[in-house]
Formats: sequence, structure tokens, C-alpha cells
Amino acid sequence: MSTGRIIVLGAGVAGLGAARALTDAGTEVTVIEARDWIGGRSWTSDLWPDLPVDMGSSWIHGVTGNPVTELADRVGAARSATSYDGMAGYDAAGGTFDFEDVAREAECIVEAARDAVDDFDEDMSLKDAVERSPQWATLSPKKRRLIRLAIHTRIEHEYSGDWSRMSAWYFDDADDFEGGDVVLPGGFSQLMNHLAKGLDIQLGETVQRLDPTEGGVKLVTSKATYLADKIIVTLPLGVLKSGDITFGAPLNKKRQKSIDRLEMGLLNKCWLRFDRIFWPEDIDWIDFLANGDGHEPGIFPEFASFSGATGVPLLVGFNAAAPAETLETLDDAATAEAAMVSLRSMFGNNIPDPISYQVSRWRQDPFAQGAYSFQPVGTKAKTRRNLFGSDWDNRLIFAGEATSHDHPGTVHGALMTARAAAALI
Ligand SMILES: Cc1cc2nc3c(=O)[nH]c(=O)nc-3n(C[C@H](O)[C@H](O)[C@H](O)COP(=O)(O)OP(=O)(O)OC[C@H]3O[C@@H](n4cnc5c(N)ncnc54)[C@H](O)[C@@H]3O)c2cc1C
Repeated sequence: MSTGRIIVLGAGVAGLGAARALTDAGTEVTVIEARDWIGGRSWTSDLWPDLPVDMGSSWIHGVTGNPVTELADRVGAARSATSYDGMAGYDAAGGTFDFEDVAREAECIVEAARDAVDDFDEDMSLKDAVERSPQWATLSPKKRRLIRLAIHTRIEHEYSGDWSRMSAWYFDDADDFEGGDVVLPGGFSQLMNHLAKGLDIQLGETVQRLDPTEGGVKLVTSKATYLADKIIVTLPLGVLKSGDITFGAPLNKKRQKSIDRLEMGLLNKCWLRFDRIFWPEDIDWIDFLANGDGHEPGIFPEFASFSGATGVPLLVGFNAAAPAETLETLDDAATAEAAMVSLRSMFGNNIPDPISYQVSRWRQDPFAQGAYSFQPVGTKAKTRRNLFGSDWDNRLIFAGEATSHDHPGTVHGALMTARAAAALI
């Protein structure tokens, strides 16, 4: 029985991108979204009416040839460039160090450590590979803390996984676009709203169960039951892993293995709005070497300044992996105070308190269950490829961030898989 109906699950960039492509090609599509708003992990908070801030994605990473640049062009969205060249390192006594140098040295150490394990019979974690390397063994305790800070903020923040879980062989198995990074002072929701124009989107409707039927799929949500010819699934890996959705027949074995093996990492933001700037105005990135035993980094090891992009005294503090998991147990006020402890160590006790703050908790979010996917030990280059694409005799099609082999963990990667999924239909 053909219903002629195509349903897309999830109204993040992938779901909206797939529905947009199909609609533009003349196919009728319904999008089902659990939240009361669209955008998913590309969502702009309007809590501060005069100052939109992105709680998920903020950057177009590599603007040249990037499909998100093309979207931003179409919307006429303002953009502001940021650069790792504009970065400064501070220690807990307010002293400064050249973080660019440290980051370069950390990169050399990581590359040498990976080269040394490249032809081993089995993969190992990035942490094990680095800690067994002769380069690491020769570092002084202070230098180790600096190198560990750079590995944390340059690698764990980017890939969202803990270095004790990330694959030494495959953690960065992805491509980049060139052309530098930009932020959107007006927020990513501008782009999501543009993609969503005129689409049939059912909000506040949670997907619960999918069953194959003769020639189609039965979908049960918190509000209704649907029959569809084909369904595009763009639900986050964290949701697929959780078991919150029941698949009434087994998925392809390789796909199920990918869902089981890939992991959902964590990156959280704490936006801090001040009445004046107390950090150097010409820098985009501030890295913080906390005091502490051993070489593990502390909480709030990195901030980005958005004062250049927005004209408002605005910082965003980041935490990823283990420190982020710990911080999610704190409330907003305690999280902002933890950020202020780092900032006071760097810039002194006379800096102002924030006039307001906003905090993300992506692990606790039931419709994300983490920030984005990463490749732990045990995954391979093909793991993500096996996640993307058709199942149940082409009746289910998987797309979204975690299914992107070339650009995982990004808006553009999610969008590219969505367009590829729509092309399959
Ligand atoms: C803190 C953070 C910072 C980031 N920074 C960047 C960045 O600077 N640049 C960049 O390119 N990328 C960044 N990313 C990654 C980027 O945001 C994601 O890769 C991308 O938004 C994922 O899009 P998606 O459509 O695949 O998934 P999602 O946006 O998660 O969309 C999936 C949708 O499914 C919905 N859903 C979930 N469960 C159900 C259910 N049961 N029923 C119905 N609907 C459901 C969700 O609500 C969501 O709307 C960041 C992510 C985070 C969390």
C-alpha cells in the first residue's frame, strides 16, 4: 500500500535540509519534531532580546565551498571572522604565556605519538598513545600541564570526546573546508528559519516507535500514528543509542554496530554578559592554565570573546569531555560562578560580575543526549559510512551529524548528509 507520504524525523539542520530539498523538488513532506522549536543543536536563544546567542553551533568552520556559507549568503546573514591567531594563555597567577607556541608543540607531540602506534595491530586511546611516547616522558611537570591543556582545548573541545576514549588512529578522520572561521552575530536560527520556510513541521511531537509495513513504515509518536512510504531519520546519535525509540525490526547489522560503537561526546557553553570589557580587546581566544595536582585541566579552561562580533562585552566559556560532565551537575548560578573563578584568577578580583548568563547542558537534553559524536577506540573509517543511508528495503534513510564521514560534528556535515538522503529519494 503506497501512501505517497514522506516523513522526516527531527527539525535540526539535517531534517530541515532534507525536507527543504524534497519540497523544492516537488515532493510533499511532513517533519516531526519533539521540541516546541526548530533547529535542534543549531539553536539561538532569544532570552536576551537585544543579543541572540547560539547554545549549540556558533561557527561556520571553513567558509570556502561550505554549504552553510551559501545558506548564510542567501539569508544575507552578517558574519564576523575569528582566528586562532588571536589567542592568549593565562595562568592562575594572572601571568601570560604564548599559547600558540604551546598548541604547536602539543600538535607535534600528538602527531609523533600517533605515528609511533600507526602500525600496531590494535588501536589505542589518544591518551595511551601520548602518555607512552618518549616526547611526553621528557616533559617537566609544568610543561606537561601546558601540553595537556592544549590537547584538551584543541582536540577534546573540537571532537567533544575524552582523550581516554578517543581513537588514536581515527579521532580526526574528517575533511576540512578552507577559508577560516566565522560566527553569525544574528545566530544560526536565521539559517534554520530560512530552511523551514513553508514546510509542514509538527512541533512538540515525540517519535516513539517505527515498524516496517508492507511497502512502507508505521510511525507512532506521542500524538498520532502515521503511515509513510519512506522516513528520513535525522535523530541525534545520543537518542538512537538511548533506546528511547523502538525499531520494530532489526536495523542492518553494520548500522546497528555503528550506533553501538560511535559515542556521543560533550561540549557545553556558558555565555557571560558584562557591563564592560576587562580582557584584551584584540584577542578571540583565552586559554587558562589552572592550578592543580597532576596534569589534568581544570574547569573553564577556555573562553572566546564575542565582543568584536557583537559590540557587547560578551564571553563564552567552554567545557568539554570530563570537566563538562562534572559541571552539568551544577545549577546555572554555580556554573557561572565557576567561570568567574577562572576569570578572576586570570584578570584579578576587581573584574565585574556578569549582568546575566546562559548555560547549556547538552548531555541532560533528552532530544540530544550529548553534544556531537566522536570516534572512540574500536571504530574505523567505515563506521560512520555504515550509519548513513538506507535500511528496511529503502524505507528508512538515516542522515544527520553522526552519519557524516567527511564532516562529523558540524552543521555543514549534517546538511550535506541531509541533501544526500533526499537525493536517495
Ligand atoms: C555546544 C555545541 C557547539 C557546536 N558548535 C558547532 C560549531 O561551531 N560549528 C558547527 O559546524 N557545528 C557545531 N556543533 C555541531 C552542530 O550543532 C551539529 O552537528 C548539528 O546542528 C546537528 O544537526 P542534526 O540535524 O544532525 O541534529 P540535531 O540538530 O540534533 O537535530 C535533530 C532533531 O531531532 C529532534 N529529536 C530528538 N529526539 C526526537 C524524538 N524522539 N522525536 C522527535 N524529534 C526528536 C531534536 O529535538 C532535534 O531538533 C556544535 C554542537 C554543540 C552541541
